[in-house]
Amino acid sequence: MMKTISHMPKGYVCPFCQVTMGLDVPGKGTKQNDVIFQNDYVTAFVASKWWPNNKGHVLVVPNQHFENIYELPPEYAAEIHRAAQLTAFAMKDTYSCDGITTRQHNEPAGSQDVWHYHLHVYPRYKKDLFYLTKGIQTNPDKRIMYAKKLRTWIENHLHK
Ligand SMILES: [Zn+2]
Repeated sequence: MMKTISHMPKGYVCPFCQVTMGLDVPGKGTKQNDVIFQNDYVTAFVASKWWPNNKGHVLVVPNQHFENIYELPPEYAAEIHRAAQLTAFAMKDTYSCDGITTRQHNEPAGSQDVWHYHLHVYPRYKKDLFYLTKGIQTNPDKRIMYAKKLRTWIENHLHK
């Protein structure tokens, strides 16, 4: 496999490693309250930044630190997509969205800004102008309702 360059700065404190280890990220960053699903491989949580017409979108991350798609082992990739699919069903049912979009960014030229692989899962709505809008940092309090809906849906559908 091709060797790729890391873009992670020296001394980088990885926010997503903190989340997967059960810690809250400081400030308005991800809290344990945002987590909607976790297994041995992956953690899914409501993103701390969200899009104005696509509120409550989710990030799925591997529990081990891999910087990008080049490093991601296939067994993690499969678990990430399994969790993304579960999230998509939960969103369809609880957000009543019209569609789902996933996005994933690698390296600065690919718009990556957190140096731990993450897959975005967005609820989509007719005329939501998704590609014309940008992510805005949200208050952790505003995320609780969205996380609770998705977490409850997943809990109810995984154990039945
Ligand atoms: Zn990490």
